[in-house]
Amino acid sequence: MEPRDLSSHTVYQAGRGIEEVARELGLDPDDLVKLASNENPFGPSPAAVEAIRETAASASSYPKASHADLTEELADEWGVSPAQIWLGNGGDGVLDYLARATLEPGDEVLVPDPGFAYYGMSARFHHGEVAEYHLSKDEGFALNSETVLADYSGQRIVHLTSPHNPTGKRFELDAVEEIADETGDDTLVVVDEAYGEFHDGPSAVELVDERDDVAVLRTFSKVHGLAGVRLGYGVVPEEWADAYARVNTPFAASEIACRAGLAALDDDDHAEKTVETAAWAREYMYEHLDAPTWESNANFVLAEVGDVLESSDSRASQNSESSGPASEVADELQRRGVIVRDCSSFGLPECIRITCGTKDETRRAVSELNEVLSS
Ligand SMILES: *Cc1c(COP(=O)(O)O)cnc(C)c1O
Repeated sequence: MEPRDLSSHTVYQAGRGIEEVARELGLDPDDLVKLASNENPFGPSPAAVEAIRETAASASSYPKASHADLTEELADEWGVSPAQIWLGNGGDGVLDYLARATLEPGDEVLVPDPGFAYYGMSARFHHGEVAEYHLSKDEGFALNSETVLADYSGQRIVHLTSPHNPTGKRFELDAVEEIADETGDDTLVVVDEAYGEFHDGPSAVELVDERDDVAVLRTFSKVHGLAGVRLGYGVVPEEWADAYARVNTPFAASEIACRAGLAALDDDDHAEKTVETAAWAREYMYEHLDAPTWESNANFVLAEVGDVLESSDSRASQNSESSGPASEVADELQRRGVIVRDCSSFGLPECIRITCGTKDETRRAVSELNEVLSS
């Protein structure tokens, strides 16, 4: 007796955790700075922490009212009907629901390369296939309709990430609309706005009003600092509303998650501080890092460390295929107590992604990284 053939399935590679790294290096977790997973450097909204405490005592009940309350508040915020809000166990859970609601066995989804790994994973879980469109580093990873449509061939879902992980680039709303216009009637365009709060541009939710072929993904993991409670949601076309009840897990978002989410939505101060500090940190990194960076619309910055290392130490790039310059830099930074994301698993072995920390954390990361690059 064995599981089915899972050889085409890949394992999600998360950024490394503080406890894990501290144990391995024999360091105090308090001395480590973790800028590897785009988490909120200020932690959760204090209001959410309070709500989680208060909810602890009623954790024995299935969530019902809280789920409805949160759905309604989000519907209100976006000007859609509550049935158009699909809560899930993180944004990842919502991706599963969208795959379940669309894919017949063998249907394809179109995903960005480089890009967020879970799009393809979720499609494969649901017996779908995966095709890629390619973002060109030579063109600064620009996101436009031509790039996506060049590789489109009737896929059931087209995944757009805006702002994009790991590059920080974004699609103009016109480009999203063009893609939705140019793709077939059976294609759903899913716009992942996990980092949507970190820039001022309009949300693709505007398009959900007018069309039946665009859905938007949002999460509480990033700006609200609730990655650990697992809460995200989709905003789907009106025509799709009924499908949710047919594809979701009973009680898709936990009581604790829903109460925390409701509290976080009301905590504008925490969200504002988070967004402002991220904007500061991006500018700081562009200006002070001794490595090329790409301008970002999110709470992280992609930096190219390959070329810098190659010129100072040609062995780095020749060493072996498995350890590119980014993993060497990330390892050395880690020994110095700063954890960043080696982008090898994104297919960018010459790049690292640095999450925007607090001002102190960001300054320390930049100064350690510059030392690593110059040594
Ligand atoms: C973080 C992230 C998500 C959602 O993460 P959850 O924690 O599951 O809500 C979705 N897409 C991208 C590109 C992300 O970086």
